Amino acid sequence: MCGIVGYVGKRECLPIILEGLKRLEYRGYDSAGVAVAQSGKLFFQKKAGKVSELEAALVLNRLPASTIGMGHSRWATHGEPNDTNAHPHSDCSGTIAVIHNGIIENFQTLKTKLQKDGHVFKSATDTEVLSHLIEEIMKNGNDLFTAVRLALKEVQGAYGLVVMSSKEPEKFVVAKLGSPLILGIGDGENMVASDAAAIIAHTRQVVYLNDGEVAEVSADAFKTTTLDQVEVTKEIKKIDFDLSQIERAGFDHFMLKEIHEQPETIRNAMRGRLQVEQGGVRLGGLEHVQAKLVNARRIIIIGCGTSWHAGLVGEYMLEQIAKIPTEVEYASEFRYRNPVVTSEDVVLLMSQSGETADTLAALKEAKAKGATVLGVVNVVGSTIARESMGGVYVHAGPEIGVASTKAFTSQLTVLALITLMIARAKGMSETDGKILAKELDALPDKVRKVLGNADQIQRLADEFKGSNNFLYLGRGANFPVALEGALKLKEISYIHAEGYPAAEMKHGPIALIDKNMPVVFVVPKDAIYEKVLSNVQEVRARKGRIIAIANEDDHEIEKLAEFVIRVPRTYGFFGPILNVVPLQLLSYYMAIARGTNVDQPRNLAKSVTVE
Ligand code: GLU
Repeated sequence: MCGIVGYVGKRECLPIILEGLKRLEYRGYDSAGVAVAQSGKLFFQKKAGKVSELEAALVLNRLPASTIGMGHSRWATHGEPNDTNAHPHSDCSGTIAVIHNGIIENFQTLKTKLQKDGHVFKSATDTEVLSHLIEEIMKNGNDLFTAVRLALKEVQGAYGLVVMSSKEPEKFVVAKLGSPLILGIGDGENMVASDAAAIIAHTRQVVYLNDGEVAEVSADAFKTTTLDQVEVTKEIKKIDFDLSQIERAGFDHFMLKEIHEQPETIRNAMRGRLQVEQGGVRLGGLEHVQAKLVNARRIIIIGCGTSWHAGLVGEYMLEQIAKIPTEVEYASEFRYRNPVVTSEDVVLLMSQSGETADTLAALKEAKAKGATVLGVVNVVGSTIARESMGGVYVHAGPEIGVASTKAFTSQLTVLALITLMIARAKGMSETDGKILAKELDALPDKVRKVLGNADQIQRLADEFKGSNNFLYLGRGANFPVALEGALKLKEISYIHAEGYPAAEMKHGPIALIDKNMPVVFVVPKDAIYEKVLSNVQEVRARKGRIIAIANEDDHEIEKLAEFVIRVPRTYGFFGPILNVVPLQLLSYYMAIARGTNVDQPRNLAKSVTVE
């Protein structure tokens, strides 16, 4: 969610920190700030708005050159986004600087106590309580590492934390619980960050901190312990993506680049896994739990937002093809309703970032109840990936656009692979397996073909850019596609849009239809095509403006719809992987036509690491 970057080494730290913050700005961007240490003092600059505004402030008010410093871009939870509430937060004496991602849930109790002891708070954030608490503990002669450790023992909530002190100006103390934090290990220099994107230009050697760990990081060393001082030996891992993958590569926006990457990313999700000739699938991360999956009494798919939509499509695949009862739940609802989950259940956690706070909490809940918990995540080494008992990486590469696109189609691809693997293990014939495997194998080329419609979709967006409401309708596995299309439109063009099951429309939303209402139908020629066509007629009879996502050989639809966007045919339950692509493009071009900020939509953030 927010962005954290810290540097300690031989070089001037500020340019490195600002460049890192810009790479992370997609995670949260309502205010930003930096702190550096020089000559036994800390210096701060904080600014509401984007990192570019912080940069401008730094030109007017230069900070002293320094080789240790840290920066933060904020996505506010407690206290409005203004200069004062921006991180880093300090203590009464100005000797401590804290940046924090997450929420300190018991901050009010701690704050009241500290205020009684004479501490004066400047901001409305939950985070500031940490700086005063650390200050208080250091008064007893404790060093910074001990003070942070002891402070965190009093804290409830979630944090990715970096702390500096002017009394020990050559090091950071960092800690993690529930929010991501990694160390970047360089040569005579080290970094800390909430995301590898901030450090990859400097080093590929990283250490992933686990929940409950605290580390002390200086220019050429780091040590890690638990909050209870048990030493932890950390393994240094290598990041395997490069800088070009997190840059725009000539596209105007990350979202557009990521939409166009989909033929490649869908291929990557299948690479080395789909065995076209044998009609089968090999998923290394699931081999040890294959029996559990195949014999599962029930599969529960859990996610938030777009990942939840992917789960809904997965429900169709798993029930219809693999014949396993499947349920799909919002992570935020699952965790608080004391769900009935047993050891015969398999829980699939869907998360692009692998850090989604609600999904992580649902994982823990399901694990505690004895279920087999498996992750379907994109970011390698993320917390959900590490806490799961097994899983499948979707291998979409870094997704920077806040509105998820390529991660969604890769999630669907992985769900199709899992489905086929289970179905074959449960007795699907090799011949049937081959048919499905060939269909999957053909998807990247078909997506490329859909992308060829971009110009037509741009014209469509120009036509509808004045509309303030949209209805998206689909049935079966394309109902979640309608939900996803509506979500994309809401997220980046701020147009009110509703996704609905096409037949359910007549129980309410049909009242909205008049000659001004654009209605997007996802209407491929599948088993329920005729039924959806009747729903198209119902909208037409009420003069709604029909936009259809339909197959290339469908000549019926052009008589009914005002606009038709063509997609190739595929096997019904794989259709969503193709059908969502024009909807992604439509939302992108609508946002362009309305002049909104595509990659940084208001109020949203990538990787939602708070509840
Ligand atoms: N809860 C903290 C705040 O509101 C941190 C938010 C974040 O993760 O950016 O300042």
